[in-house]
Amino acid sequence: MHITMVKKRLASGEPCRKCVQAEDLLRKRGLWDQIDEVVWAEETNAKSAGMVLAREHKVEAAPFYLVRGEDGSVTIFVSALKLIKTHLMAAKPITAEFKFEAVRSTLAHATPQEVVRHALEAFGAECAIAFSGSDDVVLLELAAQTGLPFTVLVVDTGRLHPETYRFIEEVRNHYGIEIHTTAPKPSELEPLVRHKGLFSFFEDGHEECCHIRKVLPLRRALGGYRAWMTGQRKDQSLSTRADLELVEEDVTFDGLSGPLVKFNPIANWSRDLLWQYIRDHELPHNALHHRGFSSIGCEPCTRAVLPGQHEREGRWWWEDEGAKECGLHPAKGRA
Ligand code: SF4
Repeated sequence: MHITMVKKRLASGEPCRKCVQAEDLLRKRGLWDQIDEVVWAEETNAKSAGMVLAREHKVEAAPFYLVRGEDGSVTIFVSALKLIKTHLMAAKPITAEFKFEAVRSTLAHATPQEVVRHALEAFGAECAIAFSGSDDVVLLELAAQTGLPFTVLVVDTGRLHPETYRFIEEVRNHYGIEIHTTAPKPSELEPLVRHKGLFSFFEDGHEECCHIRKVLPLRRALGGYRAWMTGQRKDQSLSTRADLELVEEDVTFDGLSGPLVKFNPIANWSRDLLWQYIRDHELPHNALHHRGFSSIGCEPCTRAVLPGQHEREGRWWWEDEGAKECGLHPAKGRA
């Protein structure tokens, strides 16, 4: 197999922005060495090698990739992620090579810091840290302390509180990081809103809306990673999270090369311990926490709780306790 990447050079002499991003992605994932050749399509030179290839293969976007097989076949890709998934990572089914039992044993008594370091040493930027804009900011702090590359992923449901959007921006500046966002597709969201309105979850439960606004966008995004990290804790729900492990094979989402590895570094922390850490390290936090909000999700489905109330009582309060999951983290034993 021989892979050619065709990049575009603008009239200014600069490479196009998407070409830079694609190379950056390949380098971050340690896959750049698998690109055998880079060819330039010069915007000002129709006879440049890249322009010739673009005409020959009728490609109008840049960058693009030609994969030449041993049998002489040529396959064109215009998406770096598809190229990665189809050819560059295809030989690495992650859960086949990831020794869960050995890692579980290694991490059995690990601190959250040790779990985060283990995840990032194993997967680096191919491990997405899911950040909800709430007290899971502690994961970003622990990741930043390792000095290793890491990726932060936010699901923007379109229904978050203004305070949460501001907090996400504050965190971006505080750690000097890029925040990757994923959002619902209009083609999936519009039929729900058209037929059932904006608050159907109060009538027939949150699952349909959560599936469209959270699960599907997250599924699309996680398809580009090999592992992810969540801020789930056992004490968030005795009925759905009591068996949470520090590391597990994800049963809901597939990653770049098959099932994802899922890390839950603060699974064993209590809420009190988590907040002690946030205070001791003066971490930024969502302003809603000062107004009695504890577990923070979408604006219509989250409310403040009283002192002594469990944090999950502020989420989907019109539903049974056992139903209070949004589909991202189904409890073991649930369909
Ligand atoms: S939490 Fe509420 S608004 Fe957000 S996706 Fe779920 S049902 Fe929809």
